[in-house]
Amino acid sequence: MTSAGSPVCAAGAITSPQIRRFRALELPFRLVQAKSLRAILAMTMWVSCQHALASSIAVEFVASAPEFEVATDSYTRLWTTEGPKIIEALQRYSGASLPDQRIRVIVFEGVSRSGRRYEPLWIRASYPEDTKRATLVHELLHRYLNEVDGLETCYPEIHDIMSIMLFDIWSELYGAPFATKQAEVESNRSARYRKSWSHALSLGQSARRSEIINVRKCGERLSREQP
Ligand SMILES: [Zn+2]
Repeated sequence: MTSAGSPVCAAGAITSPQIRRFRALELPFRLVQAKSLRAILAMTMWVSCQHALASSIAVEFVASAPEFEVATDSYTRLWTTEGPKIIEALQRYSGASLPDQRIRVIVFEGVSRSGRRYEPLWIRASYPEDTKRATLVHELLHRYLNEVDGLETCYPEIHDIMSIMLFDIWSELYGAPFATKQAEVESNRSARYRKSWSHALSLGQSARRSEIINVRKCGERLSREQP
């Protein structure tokens, strides 16, 4: 999936019609001098451009062997329609962005793994369609959380916080029944996953939210605790 940057970003300069449209909103900005208005517009557009650029990650699915081409097409179709909303949710929940401009996803038959920055991500070919979605989000969430400094100190078992985040991300993207079902699928994969999911599912929504906020505070807290 490739999402192009906003045309506004490419245009660069702020034009008079844009200022007129901004003024037409009848906001208190009407009182602001044109020079300040240009500064406000520039900041607004810079923020939206940064968001657009951060979202423009190309994800390419590649079959590791001819027998995985059907599954690879399935992943590609899934990403074409759902990729932008998946990336947006992962950025928002993790508070991080990826340094990768492009991620190559190798479709094979084996245990899925996220890889680290600039490396390929590996994903199993034979999952049912919903588990393709759930696992792709899972492995990409690893990549985002790898970018949060010191997170492994706050969460020595990263799946403890991932399960909490995944339940809300999956629910938001695909609905609560999907999240409950895929939590069961992951719980059946290993004792380690089962323990993390058991804790995550014991929490109510507000407790999950508090833990998710804690992810963003983790790096800050660690830097304060440094001697
Ligand atoms: Zn994992």
